[in-house]
Amino acid sequence: MKIGVLALQGTFMEHIAWLNRLGVEPVSIRQPEDLRGVSGIIIPGGESTTITHLMHYYRLSEPLKEMAESGVPFLGTCAGMICMAREAGGSSPPVTLEIMDIKVRRNAFGRQRSSFEERLEVPVLGKGPFPGLFIRAPVIESTGEGASIIARLPGGAAVAAMQGSLLATAFHPELMEDLRLHRFFLYLCSGYIKRFGGIVCREVD
Ligand code: GLN
Repeated sequence: MKIGVLALQGTFMEHIAWLNRLGVEPVSIRQPEDLRGVSGIIIPGGESTTITHLMHYYRLSEPLKEMAESGVPFLGTCAGMICMAREAGGSSPPVTLEIMDIKVRRNAFGRQRSSFEERLEVPVLGKGPFPGLFIRAPVIESTGEGASIIARLPGGAAVAAMQGSLLATAFHPELMEDLRLHRFFLYLCSGYIKRFGGIVCREVD
């Protein structure tokens, strides 16, 4: 199974390393041709203004939107979540892909708390808290009908959502030693590929 990782800016190397550990083939996405044959897309953390600008510049926005609309699973982490959102507020909101029915606010935790770690209950990942690393993270302010919140901070702020096979987190699973979120995403991708007679992912760590 091939999984595309948008490799324009940000934590794409870390996502690629996790995919290698989980035994699937990562494909760096830099131009539309790279999208051929992938069963899922990861948009990494980084700077959403830069990532969206480069996505438009390299003509990736339209093919990515079409893929999401046709049911290809997406995982967006931090800036990646902002890129997927229907609407992004906060300072210098980027022009997003508008593929997920969530409204997010950039840099929601301010400067003092620009980076922190929190143990999160994420029921779709099973029992045991998930280590959430938040770096100048966004928050989900509201969701439309199709999207559900799958994790909240202890204070109640919504920090992860799912809509069909679209998955988005305000934190960075690619920077923590817990592979459950990537494993869950690959499960969604293998479900997608199974519908077309494909392969199930193998775990190698
Ligand atoms: N603050 C960044 C943005 O708005 C996101 C930071 C991150 O991905 N760690 O794009």
